[in-house]
Amino acid sequence: MATQSLGKIFVVEDNALNLRFFSDLLQLKGYEVTGTQDGNNAIEMIRKFMPDLVLMDVQLNGVSGLDLVREIKKDKYLGLTKIIVVTAFAMKDDRDRIMASGCEAFIAKPIAIENFIQMVETYIKKSE
Ligand code: MN
Repeated sequence: MATQSLGKIFVVEDNALNLRFFSDLLQLKGYEVTGTQDGNNAIEMIRKFMPDLVLMDVQLNGVSGLDLVREIKKDKYLGLTKIIVVTAFAMKDDRDRIMASGCEAFIAKPIAIENFIQMVETYIKKSE
């Protein structure tokens, strides 16, 4: 009998250690997780994986995570996917700029694990 996961999460994060950290943490919590370090193939991979939630880094190699958020949100099939932006920038101007991309929420790095997990749970539930 297959174990039911709590939900599917896709992580876009160019830093290998961060990607590994988020993936391990979320898998431990019972989520099915996959991800990529390469923002350029992220949309295609998300289309295949059809996650309940995307965690999106802002600074990626050669592409802005916020541009990817905009692209996902205007996509006919992916538009309702919940997105949490994970960012090292959280000054007032950055917050406005991040939220204007269309994401549901953002969380600042370095993350506080309890808050992070709680936020993930909240948005996974909203996508049910
Ligand atoms: Mn980055």
